[in-house]
Amino acid sequence: MNDCIFCNIVNNDIPCEKLIENDSIIAFRDINPQAPTHILIIPKKHITTINDLKPDDSTLIGEMFLIAKQLAKIENINNSGFRMVFNCNKDGGQTVFHIHLHLLGGRKLSWPPG
Ligand code: AMP
Repeated sequence: MNDCIFCNIVNNDIPCEKLIENDSIIAFRDINPQAPTHILIIPKKHITTINDLKPDDSTLIGEMFLIAKQLAKIENINNSGFRMVFNCNKDGGQTVFHIHLHLLGGRKLSWPPG
C-alpha cells in the first residue's frame, strides 16, 4: 500500500535501522523509543490490524514472536525481562495501521500500561 509507512519501509522507500530481515518479516528500531530497547517486528505483507488476521497468518505471527525472542537475546534483555505488545485500533493506541509487534526492554516497565 503506497500510503502505508511500514509498506514503504519494506520497499526501502523510507529508511530504518534494520536489525533482521527474512522473506516475510523485517525488524527495525522504533524511531521514537519508549525504552532503551524498542524494536518493531513487522510482516512484509500488509495486514491493517490484528482484527484482519486470517487462519493462514498463524505461521507468520509465530515467526514474529520467535524473531522477538531472538532479538531479546541479542539485546541482552532476555534475562532482565521485556514486553511484547500489539496495539489494535484507537483504544489500543495503534497509530500505524500495518500490524507490528513492539519489543520493549532495558528498564523496569510499569503495569498496568497507561
Ligand atoms: P503503534 O502506536 O502501536 O501503532 O506504534 C507505531 C510505532 O511506529 C510508534 O512507536 C512509532 O514511534 C513507530 N514509527 C512510526 N514511524 C516510524 C518510522 N518511520 N520508523 C520507525 N518507527 C516508526
